[in-house]
Amino acid sequence: MPGFEIFGDEERKEVQDVLETGIFHRYGFDGPRKGHWKAKSFEEAFSERTGAKYSLLVSSGTAALSTALAATGVGAGDEVIIPPFTFVATFESIVGAGAVPIFSEIDQTFCLDPKALENALASRTKAVMPVHMCGSMARIDEIKAFCDKKGLILIEDVAQSVGATFEGKSLGTFGHMGTFSFDPVKTITCGEGGAVITDDEHLYHQADYHADHGHDHLHSDRGLEDHPILGTNYRISELHAAVGLGQLRKLDSILETQRSHKKAIKEALMQFPQISFREIPDESGDSATFLTFLLPDADLAQKVTQNLSGAGVGGCFYWFENKWHYLRKWDHFKSLKSAAKLPISLLENLPDYPSISLPASDQIMSRAISMLIMLSWTKEDIKQRVETLTRVLSGVLEK
Ligand SMILES: *Cc1c(COP(=O)(O)O)cnc(C)c1O
Repeated sequence: MPGFEIFGDEERKEVQDVLETGIFHRYGFDGPRKGHWKAKSFEEAFSERTGAKYSLLVSSGTAALSTALAATGVGAGDEVIIPPFTFVATFESIVGAGAVPIFSEIDQTFCLDPKALENALASRTKAVMPVHMCGSMARIDEIKAFCDKKGLILIEDVAQSVGATFEGKSLGTFGHMGTFSFDPVKTITCGEGGAVITDDEHLYHQADYHADHGHDHLHSDRGLEDHPILGTNYRISELHAAVGLGQLRKLDSILETQRSHKKAIKEALMQFPQISFREIPDESGDSATFLTFLLPDADLAQKVTQNLSGAGVGGCFYWFENKWHYLRKWDHFKSLKSAAKLPISLLENLPDYPSISLPASDQIMSRAISMLIMLSWTKEDIKQRVETLTRVLSGVLEK
């Protein structure tokens, strides 16, 4: 993957344009900015890339989630169905909106299991938020069909999978809104940044107003603008947008490199019949930021994780023990500890978060290891990695 591996003259040139004018605000200053509109240019390019009618660049992926929830009217007391394998921003944005996260099982795609959604439904369910984890996709067609049938809002979190598609269509374009992150460890980065996309003009305007204090963006003089709604500040700066613009142009070559590196490692693992792989509903649309494989049981997965680390094979994640990505270790969430008085603490009939049990998800997560695919690997790096992997796996599996 990651955005932190590449930064070059293309990004420097875009940033330099902004530094030369000194206009960091994405709106207004029409004269002094000398024709440089970095956020706007990114949005145009991103709409073209994803096929979405509207794109809005914001200050982070978390801001994008909050903006999508606000724009679709998801808030106080509403329940939002989410997976237990995601990043903490998922529940942060929901709780921040005054809504209630409801966890539903994942399947072998490592994303929400469409067949389990029915069980998570309640009278207060307003939205479903699948998270396309680790570069690949949920069974988004089935999840969309479920949401359509039940009249639910669908927000896709594509923070980790920019560039990925399902049956040729960009992730993030199946739901009412899709959200992206361009933080420093995502596939492409703005330094910090995020985006929401949608085909719905009304939702776009709600998002656009919400992310900039309710401004209607109809004048070049902000003092003359109206405020159709209340909002907040999730604006991106022109400097961040400039970095993103340089990165976005490299997305295709990034994906190509990731795919070829991932293929080489996967082929090496395929010699081991005991190893299975994450299910990818459309292999051709995988952005290939990670290779995720499963061992026959949790003990073996732990042993392999340890031995890989001992052998110096970096970038391997055992999510089951990870504090950022799996519900099991989210103690601060389970006890709803916060600096602020949370709106959901006023609600009755909250789920009993500390005792949530998701056995199907545990079954999958406890056996899985994900390897981060790096752009900077040379042929020699890959050869060595394959050799070490093969040695470690043979040692653990053939006893
Ligand atoms: C990174 C990430 C986010 C949040 O993005 P930030 O830009 O870091 O705020 C949201 N969801 C997922 C799944 C992520 O991985």
